[in-house]
Amino acid sequence: MNRYWTLSGKPLGGWPDADTFVLRDGAMPVPGEGQALTRTIYISLDPYQWGYKRRGTEPPGAPCHARTVSQVIESRMPGFAPGDFVFNTNGWAEYGLMGEGVWRPAYMIPRKLDPALGRISQAVGVLGMLGLTAYAGMLVMADPKRGETVVVSAASGGVGQIAGQLARLRGARVVGIAGREAKCKFVIDELGFDAGVSHASPTLAADLRAACPEGVDVYFENVGGAVFDAVLPLFNDGARMTICGLIAHYGDAPGTDARAALMKRGEGIFKERGVTVRDLFVGDFVQSHHDRFLTEVAPQVKSGEIKYREDIRHGIETVPACFSEMLRGDNFGKMLVQVSDDPTI
Ligand code: NDP
Repeated sequence: MNRYWTLSGKPLGGWPDADTFVLRDGAMPVPGEGQALTRTIYISLDPYQWGYKRRGTEPPGAPCHARTVSQVIESRMPGFAPGDFVFNTNGWAEYGLMGEGVWRPAYMIPRKLDPALGRISQAVGVLGMLGLTAYAGMLVMADPKRGETVVVSAASGGVGQIAGQLARLRGARVVGIAGREAKCKFVIDELGFDAGVSHASPTLAADLRAACPEGVDVYFENVGGAVFDAVLPLFNDGARMTICGLIAHYGDAPGTDARAALMKRGEGIFKERGVTVRDLFVGDFVQSHHDRFLTEVAPQVKSGEIKYREDIRHGIETVPACFSEMLRGDNFGKMLVQVSDDPTI
């Protein structure tokens, strides 16, 4: 049998709850010509998945979409053999097919993993889309210089922890914004950031100002909302802002344009200080930058120069609860659920 989660069909509210998803028992998928059957090892839980569900991006009745790390069981797909570890998109399911005719977001191309490069779980994190997101949004788009002040929100999360470390390695002064005090401490003590500020503090704006005495040259935006409002007055002339995500708004009413509202709030200061705002979509960088990113960053992760914290939970039954926890900040590091044995550890 193949256990997998789908949407229950209940109308979707702002955020998921216990009735949003249902666990189903399905038959084991059978690979056709050009396809491979794979066993899911790690399911990646990411904020964008909630947007997919609310916008109806996934095929109805199919397992909820997710990027996964899997192992090939049976292959009729050229280039993939039983035993291979792969990056693919089995979703919230114990088994899945990849290859010809299998629905997936266009840029999430299945690929074989080399366990020598790093832990296979990292293929959906620092050595995969999240690492590339941080690399593209920080190094390619914002391009921080030595001595500049860089602020990163959701700083202890999957993308934020890498974005901040890449800026630090460029010689920038890095300030992370996170929820719990433990996360703020982690970004300083473990990741080497210069300061950590809690967005839960009633004095967020003043705390951030104190942490950025020379203003903000680069802002890597993962959140929006009150965090953006605290950063806005601190922008220096010629500052750069990368809009990577706006997680504080992913539960807003359908039709609300959080980005447009944020640009409106910022427009006066953006104009006055000549702030460049760029939107990031990681899919735009897969062809052009993935290989270069992996060649540069994988050795830095392996050597420990770049640290990466994962929050690995266990069991297919736990997936929706873990997903909700991640959305409200109860993860500590990149959230994954392990649903079967990882033979590489
Ligand atoms: P994280 O691992 O950072 O998890 C989400 C974190 O967001 C939570 O842990 C929480 O951390 C923080 N958060 C949640 N709600 C709020 C809130 N209301 N205010 C402040 N912080 C909040 O997720 P990822 O690293 O996977 O994703 C980070 C961002 O990057 C997301 O916005 C995501 O959509 C975006 N993204 C964009 C891509 C692109 O192509 N542009 C590609 C991949 C990701 P805390 O406890 O610190 O509050």
